[in-house]
Amino acid sequence: MSKGKLFVVAGPSGAGKATLVHALLAADAKVQLSVSFTSRAPREGEQDGRDYHFVSREDFLARVNRGEFLEHAEVHGNLYGTSQKWITDSMASGLDILLEIDVQGAQQVRRLFKEAVGIFILPPSGDILEQRLRNRGTESEDAIVRRLANAREEISRVEEFDYVIVNEHIDQAVRDIIGIVRAERCRLAAQ
Ligand code: 5GP
Repeated sequence: MSKGKLFVVAGPSGAGKATLVHALLAADAKVQLSVSFTSRAPREGEQDGRDYHFVSREDFLARVNRGEFLEHAEVHGNLYGTSQKWITDSMASGLDILLEIDVQGAQQVRRLFKEAVGIFILPPSGDILEQRLRNRGTESEDAIVRRLANAREEISRVEEFDYVIVNEHIDQAVRDIIGIVRAERCRLAAQ
């Protein structure tokens, strides 16, 4: 069985990564989303095992010590990590895997998997990003300020990625991400 592809989707909070990723998953049954571990508390409506594996900080750090993560990072004061075993097992079974992670994590993954495809999601402007974060209503003012500062740092690293999608019109952005995944499947192996 051929080995699956690894797609890494990153971009600032509020750029619309989650919406795009879920539209891609609904359109393409061969793509599986990796469910990350996090020490962050669940938001309203989030489910353990579906949105994240929610664990305590101590549990997370014990997993780091046992080498369970392919990559991990501290983002906005919380710990996030990708399960190594789940990724290697799923790819070996021929599935394409998608990671929705931050830029630091994306860089770690791309060091380990040179063939990983990096897709960066950009908001149309800084103002729109701020508006989207505020409209979510899930974050405190402090958290919004932190996420905006982090967004600037993340956006400055867009050139580390293979593709960029400007999420101005969601329908177009969804077509773009679906198109990128399909194009990558048609790519000939590097010479
Ligand atoms: P949120 O708390 O809004 O769900 O996610 C905050 C940030 O953490 C987002 O940029 C998200 O992509 C990132 N993130 C989620 N899971 C992981 C992970 O497993 N590893 C890393 N490095 N970042 C993650």
